[in-house]
Formats: sequence, C-alpha cells, structure tokens
Amino acid sequence: MRLYSSNRQSPEVSLREAVLQGLAGDSGLFMPKSIPLLAPDFFRRLPQMSVQEIAFGIIKALMHDEIPEHDLHHIIETALTFDAPIVELDADLYALELFSGPTLAFKDFGARFLAQLLQYFLQDESRKLLVLVATSGDTGSAVGHAFLNMPKTHVVLLYPSGKVSHIQEQQLTTIGGNVTALEVLGTFDDCQRLVKQAFLDAELNTHWILSSANSINIARLLPQMVYYFRAAAQVKRTDLPIVFSVPSGNFGNLTAGLIAKRMGLVVEKFVAATNANDIVPKYLCTGCFEPKPSQRTLSNAMDVGNPSNFARMQELYPTLSAMQQDIVGVSFSDADTTAAIQELYQKYAYTTEPHGAIGYLGLRAYFQIHPRRTNGIFLATAHPAKFADVVQPLLPVPLQMPERLREALNKPKVAILMPNKFESLKSFLLDELTQK
Ligand SMILES: *Cc1c(COP(=O)(O)O)cnc(C)c1O
Repeated sequence: MRLYSSNRQSPEVSLREAVLQGLAGDSGLFMPKSIPLLAPDFFRRLPQMSVQEIAFGIIKALMHDEIPEHDLHHIIETALTFDAPIVELDADLYALELFSGPTLAFKDFGARFLAQLLQYFLQDESRKLLVLVATSGDTGSAVGHAFLNMPKTHVVLLYPSGKVSHIQEQQLTTIGGNVTALEVLGTFDDCQRLVKQAFLDAELNTHWILSSANSINIARLLPQMVYYFRAAAQVKRTDLPIVFSVPSGNFGNLTAGLIAKRMGLVVEKFVAATNANDIVPKYLCTGCFEPKPSQRTLSNAMDVGNPSNFARMQELYPTLSAMQQDIVGVSFSDADTTAAIQELYQKYAYTTEPHGAIGYLGLRAYFQIHPRRTNGIFLATAHPAKFADVVQPLLPVPLQMPERLREALNKPKVAILMPNKFESLKSFLLDELTQK
C-alpha cells in the first residue's frame, strides 16, 4: 500500500512508514494512493461475515502483500474482539452500537488495531515507542488500554483540564502501567497543537520512535471502515438504500465511511452531524472552510474547531459539489441534544448519550427533507453510562453502569498538571519520562 501526503510536499511512503510517522513530514495527512473496489464475491459473502472477516477482506485488498496473511489474521483477531451490532428502533431506523469494546466507545476499534500494527512493525526495533495522544475524552482511554503493558512502549495522554466529564477523566487517569495522563491547562485544540509540535521536534525524535494514535493516523481509519460494512449486512430491508448519520468532531469516523463507499459499499448519503462546532456543515453550505476556536458542548468528544480529517475529505472530494453529492451537513445545539435523548427514550425506549443523540438528530433532519423509505442508521459512538452526568437527569429510570466503568470510578485519579506550552511538555518528556 502506497500512501501520499495531502500536502504533497513529502515523498510517498509504505504503510509501515505512514503508521510510524502518523503525520507526514510536511504536516499533511497520509492517504492511500489508490483505493481498490472490493470483489463481488466479498459482497456476496458479507451477510455471513464476522467483524474479523470483514476487516481481513478490506485490509488485504488495500495492502496487497505488505503483511503476510498469517500475521494479518493475528493482528485482526487480537485487536477486533467485539462486534458492531445494529439495533432496530423503528421500521428502517437503526442505531449502530459501536461501544462493545473495552473502553465502551467506537475508538476501541481504531486504537486496538493501531496498537497491534505498531507492535508488529516494531518487532525488530531497539528504540522505545512513545505514543503521544491529544484527547478530548474517549481517544485517551481507548489508546491507553490498547497499549497497556506492551513492552518498550510509553503512552502519554494529554487532555484539557476541566473539559472532559468526570467519568472520562477517571477512565483516562486510572489506567496505570506504561500510561501517563497529563492534565493540560488549555483546550483540546491546545493539546492537539502540543502533540503536533512534538512530532516536528528533532530532539524528541532522536530519543524515541514517536507515534500519534490520534485519528490522523491512517491505522485508526482502516478498521473503522469495518462497521459500515457490518451494519449494511444486518439491515432487514436489503432492497432499500442506506443513509449513515455520523456524529463528527475530527471527522475520522466519517472519512472511514467515505473510503468504505469508495471500496464499493452502496451508501446513498452520509450525514455529517455536529454540535455547535459546525465548521464542516458550514463548508458544505457555503464552500468556505473557516476553522475557529472550539466551543464547549455536551458532546465534548466532538468539540473540535479545526477538524483534522477535513484534509482527507478534500482528497476524496476535490470540489465542493462532489462532496455535496455524498455528504450533507447539519449541526445541533445542546438543547436539541438533550431533547433528542428524551425523545429516543420516550418513543423507542432507547437510551443514548449526547454524541449518539446528534447522530439521531442528523438522520431525523435528513428524513424531513427526503421522506422516502431508506435504511437510516445513526452511529451510537459511546455507551450512555460514559456520559451519565448528562444522561441520567434526562431519564426516569436508573442507567445501567457496566462493571468496567465502575472499576475506573473507584480508583484514585493520577494525572500531572501541565501548562499549555510546548517547552513544558518537552522538558517533561525529556526529564521525567526518559528516567522510566
Ligand atoms: C471521537 C468521538 C466522536 C467523533 O469522532 P471523529 O472521528 O473525531 O469525528 C464521536 N463520538 C464519540 C463518543 C467520540 O469519542
């Protein structure tokens, strides 16, 4: 698999190089040079295929012979140990539940695949791996767990102080082992900027193999394609077209869906559903892409003012009109979000959290304009109990708290406070972490 940088100022690389570098040398995002169509036989067998089998089919088609089949099987079977079920709420209305992994959010798919792939690619390397992650909540715990106790590996999680929920913070700061949490006095965008700077720093790069596990890493995107296929395989009315509504922040999840479509999955439309951070929906309306500081909302894993995967979306759709053919954008307020959580409960006895609720709202908005029958599938990206502080007051019944969450809540928080200055991060990494 050859990959190029979306900025086109650095050379093409192999999958190994793209996965190890994360971001290209020219700060662009890696994109596969060619995206193959999957064979008709893949689609014939799709209804019977497991998540692992789908992943194998997709990744094999993209990669050719870069990883021997036997090793690829092992990577996928170790990483993707859970399913992506769809739940029918109403005729042709489904929730695609992506929270069956260890940290109860869809980011487990990408993080665990990336961790296995990195370990595979680094088996003959003597330097240590430093995984630096900017997180607004779910990424950090997913990545931390995915790399937990891997040899020759440190994980450093940067999260914005006071801007993640109590439960998310507990999940981020109680992993232990080779995972360190840094509580940054700033926003998520500050965390992302610090990580980007670290990647470009020559000195840090001599000490470690640095890797970003953020959704800019191509290895995160690849397994996220899997559940679009898996969802399509589960709908009852296979004669009806499919619309996916994707609650989006950095747009990695949506981009994976767009690549799945390029590989032959038949999708009528993608709804790019956001909270008040509506940069992409605005672009889809006006053609102007105007990043701005992120705003805090209830769906905080999507509080992104400069969505990094937009560069990849533009590679897939070089013109506005091409993008508008496949994607519609809509944004919703916090008031819309809480009303949707209540509506889903009252109408369908379905419990969701703020991100999934925005996915549902995206679908509802789409159907108001396109009332014909379609399989509407919204992505339920996290378990509702992860956002109990928002969800519980809206429901008349107590939320079920999964055992894994209860454990994280009962452990003491361990985090290091960090100013939002690159020099502070750098000296922490050089002085503290090299000692370990
Ligand atoms: C990260 C996240 C999102 C947004 O996904 P992107 O790929 O960044 O668009 C949505 N919901 C939840 C629960 C998340 O953790």
